[in-house]
Amino acid sequence: MARIRGDGSSGKGAVMLSAHLDTVKAPKENWEEAGWKHDPFGAEIDEEDGCIYGRGTIDMKNMAAMSAAVLLFIARSGIKLTRDLIFAAVADEENVNSAYGAKYLLENHSDLIACDVVFTEVGGFTMFLNEKRCVPVMISEKGASTIRVTSRGMGGHGSTFHKHNPIAKISEVCLKVANNRLPHRVTNSCRTTFEGLAQFVPWPTSQAFKLLLSPRWHSWVLDYLLTEDQYKSLGPLLFNVSNPVIVQAGEAMNQIPSAAYVDLDTRTLPGVTSAEVEEELKNLIGREKFEPTMKPDGSETPPELIMETLRCAPGFEQDPTDLHLAEVLEVIARVVSDLDNGTPIIPNLLPGHTDCTFYMQLHSKPACFGFSPVFMPPGVSFASLFHGTNERIPVHGFKWGMAILMQTVTELCGGVQPKTAL
Ligand SMILES: [Zn+2]
Repeated sequence: MARIRGDGSSGKGAVMLSAHLDTVKAPKENWEEAGWKHDPFGAEIDEEDGCIYGRGTIDMKNMAAMSAAVLLFIARSGIKLTRDLIFAAVADEENVNSAYGAKYLLENHSDLIACDVVFTEVGGFTMFLNEKRCVPVMISEKGASTIRVTSRGMGGHGSTFHKHNPIAKISEVCLKVANNRLPHRVTNSCRTTFEGLAQFVPWPTSQAFKLLLSPRWHSWVLDYLLTEDQYKSLGPLLFNVSNPVIVQAGEAMNQIPSAAYVDLDTRTLPGVTSAEVEEELKNLIGREKFEPTMKPDGSETPPELIMETLRCAPGFEQDPTDLHLAEVLEVIARVVSDLDNGTPIIPNLLPGHTDCTFYMQLHSKPACFGFSPVFMPPGVSFASLFHGTNERIPVHGFKWGMAILMQTVTELCGGVQPKTAL
């Protein structure tokens, strides 16, 4: 944790820049076979594309480096701030439980992170639509649940014949969940996102984005009009999303197992409870499979499948017109537009989740933003670099982000700094 004290004259709580320092895994050896162009731990700059390659370059050591630089610059240049500026470099974000990072700070040192505004990952990057660019800023996030479906069938010797193999039942569950979408739901944050995007792109794309909000037409637009990239990044904003990720069954080559389960990584829209998403999943898989059946003699046969929620972290939704949020969004919008030729920002819903899940629970009720600015050239999908092979960041894009973050933070903290040309 680092803090630069302001003189308090703004009467506002601190601005906090937060970056997690951990990353997902990457191969230490034989990285070429794994498809990497450069050593994932080499931090090499590629001469052809001008990008620095390495695990964590975009998720999210870029923000850690920028935040440290912003604080150093302000401290060294003696700019006077009117409110505190905090930098939290945290651990353990990439773990499902995130017990030792932002969550730990929230539970044990909330005084250190009490603030009014948080900037962290996934937002602030350039997105190109029909050759024009915009900068999404995340203000809402989906939640995450782990839902387990278990099938208890009939075990037996591998040489026998029967129709109650639990692996077969769980395979049917996997196929249904992986190949179908859950029901269409339009939340406020989803409406804000698509209406924002529609304003910015020309017809007919604008019309397509508006139709994504229609119960009648969304499927058609999703399946036939969107590019694969758009489908991947925009589709999840309209649904709860569930994916089979872990399947467990069987121990011996000559034995039919008596049980099998699948864990579904389930991402819920803000405001959706785990009970509601369980209902959606049961409807998709087949309700009758989760209910006991009555035999002719009046006795009950236990249900074929059991569903349980093992873990559930709800999402959150912030209203961009809320004064507290609007004030910060206005500064971001002005800085981005000033430093990048009128580029607009679009308040957005994030299909994943970040440490904001924890910061949102602070007593100081901060406005939380996914805002780690970076310029991504057209053709490079920001989303595919996260946790991906060949994770990288354009050096020019990093400098672009640095200038925008510096200006935004100094304006929010009341410091006066000459504008930096990009
Ligand atoms: Zn991250």
